[in-house]
Amino acid sequence: MDHKNSMKKVWIKPGCITCGTCEFIAPEVFEVTDICRVKDDAPLSDYAAEIKQSIRQCPVSVIEAED
Ligand code: SF4
Repeated sequence: MDHKNSMKKVWIKPGCITCGTCEFIAPEVFEVTDICRVKDDAPLSDYAAEIKQSIRQCPVSVIEAED
């Protein structure tokens, strides 16, 4: 099935400054404590738009995604 908003994988490269922006935009996907991590079993495709927005708004451009 061709899924318009498919999102297979999301990860954070080294250099995150734990600003919290990605968690604010997509708390279902990102969790920011002393590090930022992608939650286990996060429904990535359901939040593809929010993930893309987080990628654009991350101040240090460390969010990567494979769609
Ligand atoms: S937006 Fe970028 S710098 Fe900010 S917490 Fe998320 S990954 Fe880290």
